Amino acid sequence: MKEKIFLSSSDISNFQLLHGENITDFEKDLEKYLKNNSKAACLSSGTAAIHLALILAGVGQNDEVICQTFTFSASANPITYQGAEPVFIDSEKDTWNMCPEALEEAIKDKISNGKKPKAIILVHLYGMPAKIDEISAIAKKYKIALIEDAAEALGSTYKGQKCGTFGDYGILSFNGNKIITTSGGGALVCKTEEAKQKAIFLATQARDNAAHYQHSEIGYNYRMSNVLAGIGRGQMQVLDSHVELRRGMHKFYKKLFKNVDGVTIFMESSKEFYSNHWLSCIVIDESKTGFSNQELRLQLEKDRIEARPLWKPMHLQPVFKENDYYGGAIAENLFKDGLCLPSGSNLNDRDRKRITKSIHKLLIKMN
Ligand SMILES: *Cc1c(COP(=O)(O)O)cnc(C)c1O
Repeated sequence: MKEKIFLSSSDISNFQLLHGENITDFEKDLEKYLKNNSKAACLSSGTAAIHLALILAGVGQNDEVICQTFTFSASANPITYQGAEPVFIDSEKDTWNMCPEALEEAIKDKISNGKKPKAIILVHLYGMPAKIDEISAIAKKYKIALIEDAAEALGSTYKGQKCGTFGDYGILSFNGNKIITTSGGGALVCKTEEAKQKAIFLATQARDNAAHYQHSEIGYNYRMSNVLAGIGRGQMQVLDSHVELRRGMHKFYKKLFKNVDGVTIFMESSKEFYSNHWLSCIVIDESKTGFSNQELRLQLEKDRIEARPLWKPMHLQPVFKENDYYGGAIAENLFKDGLCLPSGSNLNDRDRKRITKSIHKLLIKMN
């Protein structure tokens, strides 16, 4: 914040709304929370953060970028903003995230065809940490930048370390549906102050250091506003309790489906993984339950409770149908048989009773 400017060519109060101290304070809060010498740059969205991470990783026209197929489209879209091509990778069964074997197969194949991928976008879907050790080792071995999409995983940890701090770049989202929200917003987590400053430079229209407006690079309008950063500071104080509440919902579903043969709750495969359980998800084996994920969703809908299918894999999306894909049918089958259950931090005992009653109706019908 520039001081001692009493008159400005633009309105001074507007200037403060946009560029006050909340932004740097919110960044400090995030850095303190994430630890590991993280350097955070607050941006207008998680999508913007992925876009800037790709730029910082040197991704350009006709490059190839590896991306987890089982994710929300915002993980992959920014690759195309750079004129690059996404190459999609299947999930593995434990974490539902990127399969290390399929990843290495893709890299080897691409290298043997004379084109090494420029970056890897790894996602911690639904808050579940990916197999980070295995993926990081492969990224290091082939010297490829690792971008960690932790949009859904703020508060999750792997071996005690916060998600978003493992890759060369990590990205967070504060969109309305995430574990904390600034209504819309995101952050890029960098390893060095230099990278952070470069991200902020690009996010504020790439203005060179001059009194007149001079530009040597193409910039973006991606900076978070000071007003939203103020909301973010408040949200940081409820982050831990939101994680507890979401994990409480997960526990509730574990108990609810404990004796239901054919319903598998998505959970941590070992103590090394700690999920914020942003969304609680299940997979249904219809041959055992007698009902499908679709039937359960419609039962809940009838009782005015929203449940959603899992993310549709990117390699099955019309817009990416020509892109390369490595792996089998793990993500595809998760999409086919899975369901996201109501998981909000605001759900209370009455809501949980309603959910229980609705699901019991279906279970009784099947017996
Ligand atoms: C929400 C989300 C994003 C994008 O974040 P925005 O802030 O909405 O742009 C990216 N990746 C994943 C996995 C997400 O869930």
